[in-house]
Parts: sequence; structure tokens; C-alpha cells
Amino acid sequence: MLAVMKKTTGTDRSTTQGWRPATQAVRGGTWRSEHGETSEALFLTSGYTYDDAATVAARFAGDEEGMTYSRLQNPTVAMLEERIALMEGAGACRAQASGMAAMTAALLCQLSAGDHCVAARAAFGSCRWLVDHLLPRFGIETTVVDSAVNEEWEAAIRPNTKVFFFETPANPTLDIVDLEFVCGLAKSRGIATVVDNAFATSTLQRPLEFGADIVAYSATKLMDGQGRVLAGAVCGSREFIDETLLPFQRNTGPNCAPFNAWIVLKGLETLSLRARKQSENALVLGRFVEERVQRILHPGLASHPRHELAMKQMDACGPIFAFDVESRDRAFAVLDALELVDISNNIGDARSLMCHPASTTHAGMTEEERTEMGVTEGLLRINVGLEDVEDLKEDLDHALKTAGLF
Ligand SMILES: *Cc1c(COP(=O)(O)O)cnc(C)c1O
Repeated sequence: MLAVMKKTTGTDRSTTQGWRPATQAVRGGTWRSEHGETSEALFLTSGYTYDDAATVAARFAGDEEGMTYSRLQNPTVAMLEERIALMEGAGACRAQASGMAAMTAALLCQLSAGDHCVAARAAFGSCRWLVDHLLPRFGIETTVVDSAVNEEWEAAIRPNTKVFFFETPANPTLDIVDLEFVCGLAKSRGIATVVDNAFATSTLQRPLEFGADIVAYSATKLMDGQGRVLAGAVCGSREFIDETLLPFQRNTGPNCAPFNAWIVLKGLETLSLRARKQSENALVLGRFVEERVQRILHPGLASHPRHELAMKQMDACGPIFAFDVESRDRAFAVLDALELVDISNNIGDARSLMCHPASTTHAGMTEEERTEMGVTEGLLRINVGLEDVEDLKEDLDHALKTAGLF
């Protein structure tokens, strides 16, 4: 970090490491310039200048700390990285341009031709594209499993299996992976686990405590929380980040822009409040919808097949649930009748948003692939926001009635 910048408290990371996650979310990783600004400074700079040639040579040689180029380090991005790592309880973190940049980097930085990756079948459309299309193009074998069946993970392991990759809860079917079992199994076989924790964040679920190796994020979702920027992050041990991820990232450049990092830093300050209140609203609205539809998918509801497991590994179940209204026509009719909730495929936002995954986030897959992972033609996914839940109930009541649901 630049010599003129200093930490808000203490002189090294060990001082702030003792803070609890809620404190880290507000203050973790904060550095101040000589002006003593309260809010983190936004460093919109691509490069840096040096007092003399020896200094820049020493920085490039790794003998001296300091910035050299914003693809390698940027003070605002560094603050975000340190804050996310401290909240997560990870050795280190590197911010990325988007959630998909994070997933791609987390996988490609450690997989090579001839390796094998086992991934969850229920996943975000682009995450499945990485597994089904990108990795095989580079000679990396992949197997998808029903992530809710522990035995399938074990049965899929081959001598060359190097990585397990999954989301929990999964987008959009809310499948829950048994973190302790799957991460423990991976560890016992020398396999690295990459957990996409976008639906929960460290506020609601901490995969590293269950033995995960790498936690990757779309920070676009709950971390920003107000639908403004794309961003992502990869967290892991200091060794993994410095020796495996960093060489990949420095040379391919999927970096988070400083402005986006600054927005996410501000978002993290209120993450815990938002995630908890939105989870609470989702549970209330979920119970309301449950009485009106055949199938609802939310780990916080007793009807979810892995409800008990979810309650064991999550503090709260997040703002997202999905429900089935039996046909695409009816799903569109529900969306078109909404007056408060917006039709939008984003999630994690403070606004309530609803989408039809089969025609949006999972439109790139065949209907057969979608059906296999539970993304049916009548499935709707809702991100429950911070509005008064009574208004949300009224809006859904009206929309479901208009669509002829009850
Ligand atoms: C949105 C999302 C991503 C991709 O994140 P972007 O920031 O949109 O690139 C990856 N995984 C999950 C589970 C997501 O919901």
C-alpha cells in the first residue's frame, strides 16, 4: 500500500483480524490517505509514478511493496479485497470484473488439460456453460451430478479429479449442497472445492468453516445490493491466491474496476442488515405464496427437501425463492400482472424482482437440460427486496389471481 496511506486502526492486519464479521463489513481493509477521509478514497488511476528508477525496479522484483499498475494492484480495489477476505475469514481475496469472471478465474487458474472437474447440475446458466462447453474445449473433463445426493459426488470421483464446483443455494432451483460432507469428501481425496456463495454471502453462510477451499462470488448481487455495478471476488488461502490465482489474473486481466470496487465497499457496510431483512421478507412472502401454488422452492420453508440441512449450515436462507405456476403462459401472465415487483433477472437487489429463468437466465440451455435441473417452463424466481412485505403480498396476490391461479 502507498506510503502516504495508513490503516484506520493498528499497523498491520493482525490488529483488525480479531474484529467480528459485522465490524469487518464496515471497517475491514480501510486505508486512509494523508487527508484522513472518512469514506474510502476512489483511486481512478491505471498507473503509478515513482521517485526513482530503483524503486520501480524493486517493486517489479517483488522486493518492495507498492503499486505498479492497476491490473496488478489498485488501492481502492485492494481495500475491497481485504474487506471481503476479513469478512469471509479467508487468507486473501482478489476482486474480479463480474461473477462470471470470478468463476472462470477460479476454475481456469487451477485446471489443466487432462484434469477432471465434478460440478453440480443445478447451477446458474453461465456456470453450467463453463462446465459443459468451456472446460471441455481445453481438454478438461467434466461430470455433472445431482448435488443434493451425497453419493453422486463420491461416485463421480476419478483419479484425475481436481476440482468440485457448486452453488448452494443454487440458482434458480435453490438446491442445497451438504457443505460438510462434500467439502470433507473433497479434502480426503485431495480435491479442491470451489463454492459459488452468491445466494448467501459470508453474512448468511461461511463455506470455509465447513472445509471449502475457495469461495467465489458475484458481488453484483447481495454485496452491491442496489443493482448498480458488476463485480466479483475469489477468496482462498494466501498461498492459493498468490501462487495459483494471481499468475492467471495478472496475465489475463479480469480485474474489478476501482469505481465498481468502491460501490461494493459501500454496499458491504449494509450487507448484513439487508441480507437478514430480505431473508425475513422472503420467508413471509414464501409462506404466503406456498398456500397458492403447487410447488415452491425455498430452503427456509419446511417443504424444502433439505430444509434442516440448510438451517444447519446457513444463518438465514436468503432473499430468493422460486415457485412453479405450471406453464410458460401462466408464468408470463403472472409477470405481466405485477404492479410493484419489477420484471428483472437480477437478484440480491433491495428492490423485489421477478423473472422466468427458462426464457432468461437459463435460455441458453435446451429444454431437456433445463427440465433435468428442475428449471421447468412454469418456474418463476423472485428476489425479495426491502419493501414492506404487506405491499409485496398484495402485489403477488393480485398477479396470481390475474393469471388464474386461485
Ligand atoms: C449472477 C450469478 C453469477 C454471475 O455473476 P455476474 O456478476 O452476473 O457475472 C454466478 N453465479 C451465481 C449463482 C449467480 O447468481
